[in-house]
Amino acid sequence: MEEDLTTDLVVLQSHLEGMLDRVHSNSNTLRRFQMFERGLLDLNSLAEMVEYVLNAQDFFDLDYIGFCLIDAKDELKKFLQEDGFELKENPQLIFFNDNEVLQVAFGGSNSPYLGKFKSLKCASFFAVDEQPSSVAVIPLVRRGQCLGALSMGSLTTDRFTDTMATDFIEHMTSVVGVCLENHLNYEMMKRTSLIDTLTGVNNRRFLEQRLGEEIDRVQRSSEPLSCFFLDVDFFKKVNDTYGHQAGDQVLVAVANVIREQLRNNDVLARYGGEEFVALLANIDEAMAVDIAERIRKKIKSLAIEAQNEVISVTISIGSVTYKPAKRSHLSSTEIGVDLIHQADEALYKAKNSGRDKVVSAGIMSDHLALANLFK
Ligand code: GH3
Ligand code: MG
Ligand code: MG
Repeated sequence: MEEDLTTDLVVLQSHLEGMLDRVHSNSNTLRRFQMFERGLLDLNSLAEMVEYVLNAQDFFDLDYIGFCLIDAKDELKKFLQEDGFELKENPQLIFFNDNEVLQVAFGGSNSPYLGKFKSLKCASFFAVDEQPSSVAVIPLVRRGQCLGALSMGSLTTDRFTDTMATDFIEHMTSVVGVCLENHLNYEMMKRTSLIDTLTGVNNRRFLEQRLGEEIDRVQRSSEPLSCFFLDVDFFKKVNDTYGHQAGDQVLVAVANVIREQLRNNDVLARYGGEEFVALLANIDEAMAVDIAERIRKKIKSLAIEAQNEVISVTISIGSVTYKPAKRSHLSSTEIGVDLIHQADEALYKAKNSGRDKVVSAGIMSDHLALANLFK
């Protein structure tokens, strides 16, 4: 009798110890997930986030990891590359053109898959040739839209099984989803807020940001920098005659012609309604006048089809060329502001002398910019 009781006690004790072990291990796991999530919330860019998520491999002691993003327009790749992220060195970052792979794997259910690695179902979520034994593949869904998936792989067969509780993993991936959505929105906003939505060229904010950088750059390289101020002639009349919508189409056509005549790394911005500003690095005064003339002629010869009409316009261009001095007393912003001002004054002359003209204000040196500041 006493012996039975002792055996029961031993069994009970071992049960209790087992339970305590599990509680202990669960609380460790929870702490680890919480730490990971806290780190996620502290990141500043998509590139940082991708790097952090890929590091989950070490953080959770995984043999494999995959971070899959739907990138229909190759925008995310561009954002990451612009931030210096090396795509080639990170094959675990996987891009899908659409959500077809996810549809096939999850059948639209969007619930995670935990279990044996099945080639057909799981291979797309890991880098080429990776063969885990067990996997967790979790779709990243926000507001009903699938943004991608996070996949974890282990060489141990029972690390991920379909009977496993998925609370921690699901919580973490929902945090990953929220962060991903935030970073994507931010990256989009950062870019779209610098682009004019009608013409697709940059806007004035972008120009103001870049102007100082361009001045700094040519000061370092001692190259000339030419600046155009371009304004469509009698544009109000286009609106009055053909309507505002036709006017919009004319602006798009004009912006396209100007862009085509510039090089890829020249800056072109819509400065206001029918006004554009261009910055051309390493272009001297004579070359600038040639390019401006070419733009003027191309625009004059344009037959713009808009609202069942064929519309022609002309453009006036003011040009000025900055030649950096060895040492300048002026800040790059002061020089930039004056450069645009000089180009605008040249434009004014072009307008007053009959329009459809290029007028060059000649060369502006730091010296001249300084004198202009005190005018
Ligand atoms: P000038 O030759 O002296 O430059 O004459 P202008 O008629 O081109 O110049 P003005 O400044 O008198 O008129 C500019 C017009 O551009 C007035 C404005 O309604 C129009 N405009 C400004 N932004 C837009 C736009 O986004 N779309 C359209 N369709 N028109 C615009
Ligand atoms: Mg005008
Ligand atoms: Mg104007």
